[in-house]
Amino acid sequence: MGNASSMRLKTLGSVFIRGVGGLCALLLVGMQPAIASKAEGYQDPFVAGMQNYAKESGMKSVATYADEVTQRVRAEGYIGPELPIPALKEVTDGVYTITGALMWATKENFGLNNNISFVVFKDGVMVYNAGPNPVVAYSAHKQIKRVTNKPVKWVVIENNQGHANLGASYWWDVGVRQIYSQQFATEDFNKAFDRGVERGVLRGDVALYAPARNMTAKYTTFKDKATIDVGGGETVELRYFGEAHTRGSTVAYVPSRKLLFTGDLGYADRMIAVFPYTNTHDWMGAFERMRAYAGEDALVIPGHGGPSSMQKVAEDTYDYLKYMRDESLKLIRAGKGVESAVEIDQSQFAWRPVYAQTHEGNARKIFNDVLKHLPKADDVKK
Ligand SMILES: [Zn+2]
Repeated sequence: MGNASSMRLKTLGSVFIRGVGGLCALLLVGMQPAIASKAEGYQDPFVAGMQNYAKESGMKSVATYADEVTQRVRAEGYIGPELPIPALKEVTDGVYTITGALMWATKENFGLNNNISFVVFKDGVMVYNAGPNPVVAYSAHKQIKRVTNKPVKWVVIENNQGHANLGASYWWDVGVRQIYSQQFATEDFNKAFDRGVERGVLRGDVALYAPARNMTAKYTTFKDKATIDVGGGETVELRYFGEAHTRGSTVAYVPSRKLLFTGDLGYADRMIAVFPYTNTHDWMGAFERMRAYAGEDALVIPGHGGPSSMQKVAEDTYDYLKYMRDESLKLIRAGKGVESAVEIDQSQFAWRPVYAQTHEGNARKIFNDVLKHLPKADDVKK
């Protein structure tokens, strides 16, 4: 192994540890530029390595090269190969989506298991979801640039999950200053940032996740609603409809185009994933409010799955929850406990991707949520 590559590996290792444990001061000794630039720009490991080499060697030619690469990276946000993520599809005039893998995040799908979508407006481009890491964000941006030369001006983040947030530093680095997120989502992601990077690094590729920085201090955070003026007489309406798949979730709606981004309030074409923090009780009301707000004829881009209709997303999300809740209530009324939840017949959903990985956990959590919010008549059994 040559000098340059072993140096690069060492640098990557340091960045990896920084992401994992926040032990930056200790492990980045001799890498002062990385620390100094943390606040204002992306420190590519390659650039850090070159700067370090320039300093150690005192060679002017190396310093010049390092400066050039640094400037390029500052402007581009990331320099490296474009990832072969799925190609974007045009949903309707000026509306595009990249549909992520209908499964969990893996090394093979680069962590892209939700959707990155965008709309070209008069004054610029609005991107819905920052992407699971800066490299996927960069690769999505490359695709955006192939269909429009308008700048990305707004990024809207669907919730607190890593796959919605960890690409945010890329957008910041290429000049996006309006990154919107709901208050609870911002709080929850802020707390889980280190763990999110760690998980990404362990499962995927250190080069994808290590560059991610926590940008929550720069987010434009809202509680219930916000309006983005995107020019040409159009707006993007951001709404919070309550707890659901996560505590904080941002729904985006473009009234002039009857276009709805549900975030994880809505899934299509795959099983929903219910996590310990998911509130399947409030999800029902949040979905109903979203549905009433956007209407039956909205064009829907769900959190997971391809472009869809309100009826289809309701069928794959709301109707599934309703069925599971009704079945849970029957079991509760028959005096059965949570261990019986897995007996609920879910065979009609077995065709849905990630069925095997989710259906039993979903059943248990939904059962417990029903138990927690029993209808008045059943309250006595609690
Ligand atoms: Zn999600």
